[in-house]
Amino acid sequence: MIGTGLIPPFERSSWGTGAPWAECELGMMADMDELDGLDPSADAGAMSLARVRQLAAHETGHTLGLAHNFAASTYGRASVMDYPAPMVEIKNGRLDLSNAYAVGIGAYDKFAIRFAYAQFAPGTDETSELEKVVDEGVKSGMLFISDADARPAGAAHPLANLWDNGDDPVAMLRHEMEVRRIALSQFGLANVPNGTPLSLLEAKLLPLYLHHRYQLQAAVKSVGGLYYTYAVKTAAGPSPPQVQQVVPAARQRDALNAVLDTIKVEELAVPPRILALIPPRAFGYEGGTQELFAKRTDPAFDPLAAATIAADLAVSGLLEPHRAARLNQYHSLDRVNPDFAEVAAALVARTWRPPAPKDAYLAAITRSVQGLVVTRLMDLAADADASVQVRAVATEQLRSLLVNDTAMTSADEATNAHLRATHEDIERFLARPAEPRKRTPPPPAPPGDPIGAGKQHP
Ligand SMILES: [Zn+2]
Repeated sequence: MIGTGLIPPFERSSWGTGAPWAECELGMMADMDELDGLDPSADAGAMSLARVRQLAAHETGHTLGLAHNFAASTYGRASVMDYPAPMVEIKNGRLDLSNAYAVGIGAYDKFAIRFAYAQFAPGTDETSELEKVVDEGVKSGMLFISDADARPAGAAHPLANLWDNGDDPVAMLRHEMEVRRIALSQFGLANVPNGTPLSLLEAKLLPLYLHHRYQLQAAVKSVGGLYYTYAVKTAAGPSPPQVQQVVPAARQRDALNAVLDTIKVEELAVPPRILALIPPRAFGYEGGTQELFAKRTDPAFDPLAAATIAADLAVSGLLEPHRAARLNQYHSLDRVNPDFAEVAAALVARTWRPPAPKDAYLAAITRSVQGLVVTRLMDLAADADASVQVRAVATEQLRSLLVNDTAMTSADEATNAHLRATHEDIERFLARPAEPRKRTPPPPAPPGDPIGAGKQHP
């Protein structure tokens, strides 16, 4: 059954050229049934049809000339031109899918079609009538933010997101984490029909385990985030009057905490009860198109790889170079705002500073996440496309780890090996020869000569 935006449908390289709707992948999502059984009262057929209706309206919208509006889900399911995540509500501690998809088109769609297709009586000043339509739309909050501002990993607008729900992306991340907790607590043999190889449970587990990924991508945009519109100059000044606004500092810090909460070790650990149910792939079921986790334990399921993949959603989101550079910029303009050092230090503190779990499985997950954080800090410190100060801060966090964390010893030999290897890795990284130098190139001055001056002239 077609259910949701839970399976990753995107190649990052698949957007950004041609007409905004030339590369719509809304209809190309894999069939998904991981929500089957989560809500016993849900009618899977009706939900599937609701999704197909939504898809048909979306594609009709493109045909009529509408681009994606990825902000529309933040003001009341206002457009079929957003990508809809199924709304999973929690009622009395149980998941409820009765409101999974909206019915009909939204307020933004009516506004956009009215602007594009309204017919005025002969003799009407069409330009001024259309301006009135726009003014009304702006006044009633018809925010329009499209692909180029929503899809990049470093995107800044907190409200422009794919496969998200609700007007508060941070609160919604906490909600989706609770949905995930409930869904994982119910996960088991009931997720596949009789006669199915148990190995296929892995393909059912993946989208549930990563259920929060899109809402996380939405929430992290509040960190170093910027509210803005495609504002236009009018006779009365900018429309809308507020052109842009840095996300308030408290809001940024709340988002940071919500994102860091997703990588708590107990959230990342696939319960041993579920691990026990998933054997290596059954004969005849090795191939197929269903997405599986990468493994370093082939042919067995690899819970450390799964935990690392989930943790990386948050770690790479927080260490994204453009986001990091914006944090520094907004802090420099107003010291109330968090800077990148605060965010990077919070990430290190959350992942490296708590006492190691006593449980060996949880300790192994902790070490995997710690290694991931170090790897991503090195990636950033060595990123020639990142700002100089962002690289400096990433390097500083590695020095801090060297002094405060990895130099320690533990009574546990596995922990010791991890600490020593990480310590030496950071030392080698910091002392690395200036490999063919990859420095951050200072931005070039724009060309000042008349266009074409660079060409040979007779
Ligand atoms: Zn589309």
